[in-house]
Amino acid sequence: MHPDGERILFTGEQIQARVAGLGAEISSDYKDKELLVIGILKGAIIFLSDLVRSITVPLYYDFMAVSSYGSSTESSGVVRILKDLNQSIENCHVLIVEDIVDTGLTLNYLVENLKSRGPASLKVCTLLDKPSRRKVPVKIDYNGFTVPDEFLVGYGLDYNGRYRNFPYIMVLSRRVYEGGN
Ligand code: 5GP
Repeated sequence: MHPDGERILFTGEQIQARVAGLGAEISSDYKDKELLVIGILKGAIIFLSDLVRSITVPLYYDFMAVSSYGSSTESSGVVRILKDLNQSIENCHVLIVEDIVDTGLTLNYLVENLKSRGPASLKVCTLLDKPSRRKVPVKIDYNGFTVPDEFLVGYGLDYNGRYRNFPYIMVLSRRVYEGGN
């Protein structure tokens, strides 16, 4: 494990097995339908790239980037769209793919925003759910793992842009973001 980590929460093998399971569930739920997968940049791209390869129904994917004002480890609830979709989602079966749902503020904003564009259906898939920190209720249709209230990095999740490329997910040592040793 990288020395900035406190412990590994999920190994690469555990993640791959769970992602394959989610892909199978999604494929069965959307049988005979075509899917539009919307990945939320940047954190979800590693998860999305593995997930779509386990989904067997025809699909398209596109990306949105949002920013939430606040410090790097706390979300503020004020969400701004930095990059919007390239296409209309009207009458499409949309699946939002997120890396982690924490307070729920980002996802709540995204769901309301996308709902107003008239999709045929709208569901949410997140790799990680941190329910203990929820500030607004959000419906999660597919969840990879429920996680404790700790700051996680790896497999797309970053701290100041780092650690995204790790194949595993680790708890970041407090000393890294609190300073000192
Ligand atoms: P929410 O709006 O649900 O509070 O925040 C969701 C976003 O906060 C995630 O997409 C992610 O960017 C960030 N976030 C929340 N918890 C963690 C965490 O444990 N580690 C990392 N790296 N980002 C997190």
